[in-house]
Amino acid sequence: RPLHPRSYSITLLPGDGIGPEVVSVAKDILSVVGAHEGIEFFYNEMPMGGAALDAVGVPLPEETLAAAKQSDAVLLGAIGGYKWDGNEKPLKPETGLLQLRAGLGVFANLRPATVWPQLVDSSTLKKEVAEGVDLIVIRELTGGIYFGEPRGFGTNDKGEDFGFNTEIYSTFEIDRIARVAFEIARKRQSKLCSVDKANVLEASMLWRKRVNEIASEYSDVQLSHMYVDNAAMQLIRDPRQFDTIVTNNIFGDILSDEASIITGSIGMLPSASVSESGPGLFEPIHGSAPDIAGQDKANPLATVLSAAMLLRYGLGEENAARRIEAAVIETLNKGFRTSDIHSSGMVLVGCKRMGEEVLKSVDSQK
Ligand code: ATP
Ligand code: MG
Repeated sequence: RPLHPRSYSITLLPGDGIGPEVVSVAKDILSVVGAHEGIEFFYNEMPMGGAALDAVGVPLPEETLAAAKQSDAVLLGAIGGYKWDGNEKPLKPETGLLQLRAGLGVFANLRPATVWPQLVDSSTLKKEVAEGVDLIVIRELTGGIYFGEPRGFGTNDKGEDFGFNTEIYSTFEIDRIARVAFEIARKRQSKLCSVDKANVLEASMLWRKRVNEIASEYSDVQLSHMYVDNAAMQLIRDPRQFDTIVTNNIFGDILSDEASIITGSIGMLPSASVSESGPGLFEPIHGSAPDIAGQDKANPLATVLSAAMLLRYGLGEENAARRIEAAVIETLNKGFRTSDIHSSGMVLVGCKRMGEEVLKSVDSQK
C-alpha cells in the first residue's frame, strides 16, 4: 500500500429533480470508502441541465465541460423536469447531456442488469428465470445508424416521400469497443457475447469479423456471437446464460432497456459511459423523477452503485468498488427499502436514511 493516499478529482453534476439528493448520498459514501481504502477524493460540483439553464442560460456551461474533462471521473445525478419540458432543442436540459457525452468522447455505454437476491420478486420475469441474473450490456454509443451519413428525406420517381439512414461502422470503431468489452468480460466471468445481424447487414458482417480478430488478443475470454432477434428472445427466456454482451448503438439501445426491465427496479440501476482514456461519466439510468423530487423519497442506490462503477471502470479501484457493493447488499439484507422497492415486512426509509445505513455497513466492514 502506498505511503501517500491515492487521490482523484471527481466532478459532481447533481443536476435536477432528485439528482442533488442522490448525488449527495453517493458522495458521502465515496468519501468514507476512500478513507478505508487509502484514497482521497477532491470534488468539484458544477451546474448542469435545468439548473444550469436557470443560472446561466445553457444546459452545459463551458466551465462545467472544462471541469469534467480535467477531472478523473464524472458523477451525474439526473437532468430535466416539468419546468423545461417545453424548451426547444439547444435549450433542452437533455441537450446538455448529449454535449457532455460528445465532449468527453465516451463511446462505450455500460449497463449492468443485476437481479439482487433480496429483490428477486421485483423482477418482471418469473422468479425461477430471474434468480441470479447478473449481466452487463456494452453498447457502442457514438457511431452506427444514429449518426451515419447520408441521412435525410427524399422523394422517389413515383412521387413517394421516403426517409433514410445509414448504418456505418469502421474497423477503428469496432476494434475499440470490442477491446473495452473483452477487458470488462475478463474482469467478470470471461464470457462475451457479441450481438449483431451479420446474416443481413454488411456493417454487422464487418463487426463480427473484427470482433473475431480482436478475440485473438483475449484467448482467456470465451466469445460467442448471436443475432439480435435471437438475443432479444434469449434475454427473456434465459437471461442467466449471459455475462457480458457487446453490441452496436441501435441494438444496444433496445437490448439494454430490455435487460433493465428484467430487474424491475429503476432505482437500483447504475450506468457508465467510458472512452479508452480520459474521464468516464457515471450516472443512474433513472431520470430526475420530478414527481418525488425534494421529498427525501428517492432511492439513492442506483447512484451509489454508479459510484461503484466509477471506482471499478473509471479509476481501476476494484477493492473500493467491491466495498460499496458489499455495503449495499448488507443494507438490503438488513431489510432497509426505499418506497420504490418496498415490500411487506421490510423497513421503509427515505433517501438520506438509506445513505446512512449504507455508510454504517461500510464502516462495519473489516
Ligand atoms: P427520463 O428523465 O430519463 O426521461 P422519465 O422521466 O421517463 O426518465 P424517471 O424520471 O426516471 O422517468 O421516473 C420514472 C418513474 O420512476 C417516476 O415515477 C419516478 O418517481 C420513479 N423513479 C425514478 N427514479 C427513482 C428513484 N431513484 N427512486 C425512486 N423512484 C424513482
Ligand atoms: Mg424525465
